[in-house]
Amino acid sequence: MIDLSHLKGRRYGVFGLGRTGMAAVRALIAGGAEVVAWDDNNDLLEIASREGAETGNFMTAPLAYLEAIVWSPGAPFLAPKPLPAASAARRQGVPLISDVQLLLDAKHGARVIGVTGSNGKSTTTALIGHILQRSGRKVAVGGNLGPPALGLNHLSADGIYVLELSSYQLELTPSPNLDISIFLNLEPDHLDRHSGLHNYAAQKRRIFIGCKSAIIGTDDPHGRWLLERCKKDFPSTEISTNHLLDKGVSINNGWLCEDEQPVFAFNSAKSLNGKHNQQNAAAAYAAARNLGLSTHEIIPSLENFDGLPHRQALIRNIDRITYINDSKATNSAAAARALSSFGRTFWIAGGLPKDGGLKGIEECLKNVVKAYFFGQAGNSFKNQLSQMAPSIPASEYDTMDEALAAAHNDAHRDFEDSVILLSPACASFDQFNSYEHRGDVFTDLVSKLEAPRSNGAAA
Ligand code: ADP
Repeated sequence: MIDLSHLKGRRYGVFGLGRTGMAAVRALIAGGAEVVAWDDNNDLLEIASREGAETGNFMTAPLAYLEAIVWSPGAPFLAPKPLPAASAARRQGVPLISDVQLLLDAKHGARVIGVTGSNGKSTTTALIGHILQRSGRKVAVGGNLGPPALGLNHLSADGIYVLELSSYQLELTPSPNLDISIFLNLEPDHLDRHSGLHNYAAQKRRIFIGCKSAIIGTDDPHGRWLLERCKKDFPSTEISTNHLLDKGVSINNGWLCEDEQPVFAFNSAKSLNGKHNQQNAAAAYAAARNLGLSTHEIIPSLENFDGLPHRQALIRNIDRITYINDSKATNSAAAARALSSFGRTFWIAGGLPKDGGLKGIEECLKNVVKAYFFGQAGNSFKNQLSQMAPSIPASEYDTMDEALAAAHNDAHRDFEDSVILLSPACASFDQFNSYEHRGDVFTDLVSKLEAPRSNGAAA
């Protein structure tokens, strides 16, 4: 865990005792700080208290004696409604900070790369970690992906932290001061929590505060605007999957190019399918080059990167049908990427809808044979699709397993090579604990499927 011994004797609050909060409790106590912890869940409070924390209700206790409250990024504190504990902290002048800020204040010379964007953060973070590890660098990878920031191994000054940073974490990180700040893309997401796109984008842009260098994706207009602003203030590398760049990292005809020179062919990669992964690979390549790695050191890692679970992951084939789990596609932009990555597609989507619904997906529907919508979004998705693409049949189900059963039957009746794709374009929380839970259930259901007898496929 991260060494916080410079905080010895100081007093911190920790609000929210999930994985992030509990890692903060442990690291603070191990460093000799005093901790007051709070969560609605009594079981978690008990664990924190066994770890050595005091417990106290932040809505009623005096807070002014706390240096800061390490706030769980999952707990909305301002919008849609201000949380009473956060308002109490504000009134008493106690800052709310992220666990990431404590790591950044304790890194003692190690370098830090931060990755943000609406989509592709986890893949890019994992890929950078993979490249650096394979090249023998001392690395710790975490943040919003994998271990929480304060649960990471403490690195010496020659180490490199690679952190996935969500807008929720950045909102609570006043001084990131990163060595490399990566901004991949911007699509509408988490709009209720951030009171709209404008504030969501503003929170994400906080990644550049105090940074030494930047890598910016310019496939969307916001990225192009950002690059123009950032390059006046610090060295900024552009990445693009749309245009061959004379300066920067870009994609041309299936090749990754550095300053126009082709350096890597995507068809030699094990799991970097699709334009979206080309953007992730471009960002990871630019980061590794920025840290001084040679092209020669980077290429083998791009080739053998395994990808992450629940992101366009192949589950199995049954006869001519391929089953793909893309449960991590929790908004329409991510689902649009998946729909653009495959041929004939029977598309399963639904769950808890986000603001904007299926907005932006229109252009990616040409390979969709039929859509199967489930959960809370079922009805509205069906209506939206019938407006966007009246020729694509869509049906509505209560649950994901009913949707899968129907897609399975239809696809096998077809006798054509096709994909059954779960790419929900929704949050999972109406029927599952998380996108991982939803993807695991889907994978399990698919593993139990058999080819329908009537299609004669077994002959
Ligand atoms: P994040 O951590 O930002 O949610 P992930 O790497 O976990 O991103 O990918 C989530 C989903 O988003 C994937 O299943 C994929 O369909 C889509 N995706 C991945 N990378 C990108 C990208 N660069 N641009 C757009 N969509 C992407």
